[in-house]
Amino acid sequence: MEQSSAIGEPPIMLVEDAQVRFPVKQSIWHRLQGRQAQYVQALNGVRLELRRGETLGVVGESGCGKSTLARALVGLIEADDGRIRFRGQDIATLHGKARRSFNRQVQMIFQDPYGSLNPRMTVGQMLREALSVHRMRPRADIPARILELLDLVRLPADAVDKLPHEFSGGQRQRIGIARALAVEPEVLVADELVSALDVSVQAQVVNLLLDLQQKLSLTVLFVAHDLRLVRHISHRVAVMYLGEVIESGDAEAIYQQPLHPYTQALLRAAPGMDPTRRIATVSLAGELPSPLSPPTGCRFHTRCPYVTDRCRREHPSLRTKPSGQLVACHLA
Ligand code: SF4
Repeated sequence: MEQSSAIGEPPIMLVEDAQVRFPVKQSIWHRLQGRQAQYVQALNGVRLELRRGETLGVVGESGCGKSTLARALVGLIEADDGRIRFRGQDIATLHGKARRSFNRQVQMIFQDPYGSLNPRMTVGQMLREALSVHRMRPRADIPARILELLDLVRLPADAVDKLPHEFSGGQRQRIGIARALAVEPEVLVADELVSALDVSVQAQVVNLLLDLQQKLSLTVLFVAHDLRLVRHISHRVAVMYLGEVIESGDAEAIYQQPLHPYTQALLRAAPGMDPTRRIATVSLAGELPSPLSPPTGCRFHTRCPYVTDRCRREHPSLRTKPSGQLVACHLA
């Protein structure tokens, strides 16, 4: 898949050792007992770069932190430690005009379009609102731009006067995409964009996103648990496990030669992935450990067939391999 970013260009977004903790709700009984507050470490030292014009697929089991990462990238969640940079600037330090500009340039599309669309507003009103808030067009040009946006996401012009409940799930996702595109963003963060849709509709929405990414030179972060979808759409892939990125690199390299035992296990477990490939794969055994008390050392050690004493003691850091892949494993 072709990519429009220039080689050597700094990444448009950079995640530097991001940490995000969520307090666990305590019962009144536990509070009266004076129990210490507990925290879920949703992101633990995540390092990631998003290059201009690429689609980066982020995969992992549910609870691995990929949605938290997506929300942190658009500024819905603030990192407790570390930094998230947009065009070199720490987004936590952006205020006023600079913050509004960031909010416009980095848009999120949610998994549940119905929940994120106002049920009382027609599609036309929603798009008009998006165009007006950021003054994207002179007032007189807004009706034409609304039709342009509908055409861009392949919805008919008469959608303008309809309410969200009059559309199917796939069409509602298109409305969500049109609303995000109304403000002409540079980065789209798609969190489980199609996981609630039927398989046939999933393909249509994913193909639409692929077309839009190329036509508008968008940078896309595509969060999904379906590895086939991610492969279809992504230039690069990042694999997450218990709040950490444990492998990242070019999509083809990761799918052909996964280096981390967890990536190998995910590929093996994915239905429909090419069963004839002779890559080294391992089975994914056991449950994902609780993020409340993650394993010591390598967080994957409780499920890894290659575990050693060192793995239980020492946390492996992400290192670049000759193939260009970044891998966090003592043995990779
Ligand atoms: Fe397995 Fe050890 Fe590598 Fe972790 S560091 S993935 S436990 S071999």
